[in-house]
Amino acid sequence: MNAPALSLSDLVVERVGFGIFVLDREMNVLMWNRFMQDHSGLAAEKVVGRPIFDNFPELPRAWLSRKLESVFQLGSFAFSSWEQRPYLFRFDHDRPITGGVDFMQQDCTFMPLTREREVVAVCVTVSDVTHVSIVQREREEAVAKLQEYADRDGLTGIANRRFFEARLSDEYTRWQRYGGDLSVLLFDLDHFKTINDQFGHVVGDGVLREMAQRVADVVRVEDTFGRFGGEEFALLLPGTPLGVAMQVAEKIRHTIGDAPVDVQGVSVPVTASVGGAAARAGVPTYEVLINEADAALYSAKRQGRNRSIAFA
Ligand code: GH3
Ligand code: MG
Ligand code: MG
Repeated sequence: MNAPALSLSDLVVERVGFGIFVLDREMNVLMWNRFMQDHSGLAAEKVVGRPIFDNFPELPRAWLSRKLESVFQLGSFAFSSWEQRPYLFRFDHDRPITGGVDFMQQDCTFMPLTREREVVAVCVTVSDVTHVSIVQREREEAVAKLQEYADRDGLTGIANRRFFEARLSDEYTRWQRYGGDLSVLLFDLDHFKTINDQFGHVVGDGVLREMAQRVADVVRVEDTFGRFGGEEFALLLPGTPLGVAMQVAEKIRHTIGDAPVDVQGVSVPVTASVGGAAARAGVPTYEVLINEADAALYSAKRQGRNRSIAFA
């Protein structure tokens, strides 16, 4: 005997590229389309006429019941986005490379089916939005990577000047509001021009990289270490009084100067001069703080280099 011919609207419901099923008040399934069959592996004959939780015990029972209840009571549409709830049904997706997306991501709508002003059932649609979620995830990762590049110095990988100044500005504002201690160190490699002239720029670059690495390894995580320009670096020390900052300055100076740097088989002796300054009453902006550290650095240079001096 032939199966009864499907009406056009039945055909559409069967062939459409998203899930459609209908639930009554007792959560019995009244209809289950081809998409739901194909992705759940359960034929309509097995699902229809029984409570949905019988075949899908893993469904979020409380959440789904509440959602349905509100549609029955209010007679209005409800929606669930993959961004709030990644999926309702644990269906596989057909994306080859998924980067952390485990199951088909789904948007769901809940539509009241009304007869004589009474909601008799709720029609639920399930759309596969895995591709949307993947594109969004990739976009977020790309933005995070760009952000990371925007904050870093290309040669040394440490913070660049823009990022350093933004951090300093934030910390300075915090200090103005809450007080406490805040110090800045500026340091500059001594006679770096001679190093470039003697060994070449490529070696000079290697020295800058190695210096940055050495210093980065000894600074605290809460401090911000940045390349301020050419062969000049800066260290921001929140919560640190000038006396302690100058001890850090000495530690850094020794880190840089105690052992020569080996770059491409050349042993290059390097020293640095350091200037330090601390926020205190009468310093109106963070720029003034930097100028004071710079003045102290200039004193260190004038007094013979390879030393650290506090602004006074
Ligand atoms: P001082 O002890 O007074 O600081 O002497 P100096 O030679 O270090 O000072 P000066 O500022 O005159 O020269 C800095 C040199 O640093 C000049 C420049 O060629 C070099 N320099 C700046 N940026 C880079 C860089 O990215 N790579 C290399 N290799 N050299 C750089
Ligand atoms: Mg220099
Ligand atoms: Mg310089």
